[in-house]
Amino acid sequence: MTERPIRRIVIVGGGTAGWMTAAALANALQGSCRIDLVESGEIGSIGVGEATIPPIKYFNRTLGIDENAFLAATQGTFKLGIEFVDWSRYGQRYFHPFGQFGTEFDAVPLHHYWLRERERGDDKPLQDYALAWAAARAGKFDLPVADRRQVQSSLDYAYHFDASLYARFLRQYAEQRGVRRTEGKLVDVALRAGDGFIQSVTLDGGTVIEGDLFIDCSGFRGLLIEGALETGYDDWTHWLPCDRAVAVACAHRKEATPYTRSTAHAAGWQWRIPLQHRMGNGHVYCSQFISDDEAAATLLGNLEGEPLGSPRQLRFTTGRRKQSWNRNCVAIGLSAGFMEPLESTSIHLIQTAITRLLALFPDRDFDPFAAREFNRLTQTEYERIRDFVILHYHAVQREEPLWRQTATMAIPDTLQYKIEQFRSGGRLVAESMELFQNSNWLAVLVGQEVWPQRHHPLTDMRSQVDAAGRLRGLRRVIEEAVHHMPTHQQYIDRHCRAA
Ligand code: FAD
Repeated sequence: MTERPIRRIVIVGGGTAGWMTAAALANALQGSCRIDLVESGEIGSIGVGEATIPPIKYFNRTLGIDENAFLAATQGTFKLGIEFVDWSRYGQRYFHPFGQFGTEFDAVPLHHYWLRERERGDDKPLQDYALAWAAARAGKFDLPVADRRQVQSSLDYAYHFDASLYARFLRQYAEQRGVRRTEGKLVDVALRAGDGFIQSVTLDGGTVIEGDLFIDCSGFRGLLIEGALETGYDDWTHWLPCDRAVAVACAHRKEATPYTRSTAHAAGWQWRIPLQHRMGNGHVYCSQFISDDEAAATLLGNLEGEPLGSPRQLRFTTGRRKQSWNRNCVAIGLSAGFMEPLESTSIHLIQTAITRLLALFPDRDFDPFAAREFNRLTQTEYERIRDFVILHYHAVQREEPLWRQTATMAIPDTLQYKIEQFRSGGRLVAESMELFQNSNWLAVLVGQEVWPQRHHPLTDMRSQVDAAGRLRGLRRVIEEAVHHMPTHQQYIDRHCRAA
């Protein structure tokens, strides 16, 4: 048993990262140490970050949060995946579904049979074997089932929600469990003589808050991890060149669709995220190829409803902090890095950083091996996600300067390897620890039109497998399953309608 337990944790920042961290620590530590959160209403939080990926469900479940109550409180909707429009070339569309492509019917993965049938002239797209796409296209939603024999088990989902309402929801949760919030602007950070650990932070009114462990959730500013500790940043702009975004919400014209849409433009791409009360939109772009005014005009010219307010500009540098855990400070959220929002991974990275912090939770001796392991795992996680996002930019045939640059740039060896494996024989080689698994890589590789040169040789040797019949059957059961689902709007109205 440790004799020097952490007595006081100070979280700087009350955006999504700050309140997710506060809520999770309050839940895990059960009142055994004091937790302070400092935030500045004057500075505010970034306010975007509305689309998530499936593991968010486990974060909420660990906290004992009821799904329907949470969606009602955050104007949330369901997300079955992302539709990519005009990405590999104009006029081309594909869907990156959550969950699996159908249910496997043989030891050889389904996509090899699909590839073989395609070579024989069957033009059904891969996404037709994903229940998530069939449901999304029809505007339907239902919860997946546990029985692996049923196609409804192949479905997975995440959420879209209003980020500021989520932070408010978690704030209430955290404060009910003892987290103390202090309003104020951080103006100074005191470091301990000798080892340079953070001793205290000072707010603009003069309040000094001391702590044993400091969590930097101050957003892009990285007030502690960079401002005070000068940890350094790995800049990934040469791989992920978009550096700005302009965002605006608009009114809904139709019912909320259960998926995110990402449409590529000449110098970036535009998101469309449906919530219950409005549609979130943003244009992520590379300032080297388009001005801020042109980017805003592109955004406004591609809205599906009346804008609600004026567009808001945001700037960022893609990359990651060299160490997320430095001395007695752990950076969580945008202070730890940002890979741009294309695959909605930022909130997930907050979640995994919290999980990792709890797994490697220190005492006041701060065993350096815990920090090293935290940083090693974080680096691997960021780099694997980075590769997946780069794939979207690299496997393109568009002719505009941004896309010519990303199509011809040198890419990380780890990504090159995955592309070559797929191109040569349809092999998917994601490791078990990776966030994006083989089915995710498959969706995006095929969607971005990276075509394998051959299918798996075993498909031709297993003549007893009626693959064409099984694929036909799969399409039929998917259609039937969708037929019996409620519409997404009906599901929300029944279970999680905001007041
Ligand atoms: P912030 O929201 O910036 O919060 C920082 C906090 O620190 C605020 O409370 C602020 O008041 C406080 N603070 C700062 N300075 C001081 C100071 N001096 N004193 C006191 N307090 C201070 N993520 C997704 O998962 N899905 C998405 O769809 C998505 N879309 C995005 C789109 C864009 C264009 C961008 C830029 C990001 C997107 N993200 C998305 C990322 C997501 O917004 C963030 O991961 C998330 O909001 C967490 O931000 P944060 O809490 O780290 O920082």
